[in-house]
Amino acid sequence: MSLTQNTQSADRPVRPDRAFERYVWQQPGVCNTCFHRIKRDHRRIANGVAGHDVHVHDQFGEVTVRDETGRVTGTEPVGEHGVNRTYEARTVCDYCGSIAGRAPDETRSRLQMVRRAAAIADRLEEDGIRVSRKAMRRTIWSLKSDERIQGKDREIFERAVKLAVKHAGRH
Ligand SMILES: [Zn+2]
Repeated sequence: MSLTQNTQSADRPVRPDRAFERYVWQQPGVCNTCFHRIKRDHRRIANGVAGHDVHVHDQFGEVTVRDETGRVTGTEPVGEHGVNRTYEARTVCDYCGSIAGRAPDETRSRLQMVRRAAAIADRLEEDGIRVSRKAMRRTIWSLKSDERIQGKDREIFERAVKLAVKHAGRH
C-alpha cells in the first residue's frame, strides 16, 4: 500500500470502482458519448418533427377572459401572439453533437474508446480525483480486445477508471 493511495482525496473518499459512474456517467452536465462538459446555454434544434421536438399550438384556440368579479368579458387567442409553434430547448453536446448528451446506441471501436480516456480523466481531475491516464488507456485497450467484455463499453470504462485511480501518481 503506497502513501499516494491514502492521500487521494482524503477529505472525500473515492471508491475507485464507483468513480466513473459517480463523477462521469451520472453527472448531468457531462456528455455520455464524448465525456466533455455540455454547455449550459441550450442550443435549439430547428428541424424537429411535430409530436417529438415541436409543439404546434392550435392557431384558433381561444380562452375565455373574465374580469375580477368572474364576469365573462371576451376571449383571447391561446399562446403568444404570432407564435403557432415552439421548439423545445434540447441540450446538444457542442463537442460531438450528441442529443441530450446521450450515450451512443452502438458499441464503440477500440480506438474511439481509447480516445475518450483524456476527457474522462479531465472530468475526474476537475473533481480532484487523480488518475493515471496511461493506465486508463491501457486498460481500455486490453479490455476492448477481450471478447468476453468488449461489447460492454460502460463496464470497460468503469474498470479502466478503477485501475486509473488506483495507479494515480504512478506513470
Ligand atoms: Zn459529446
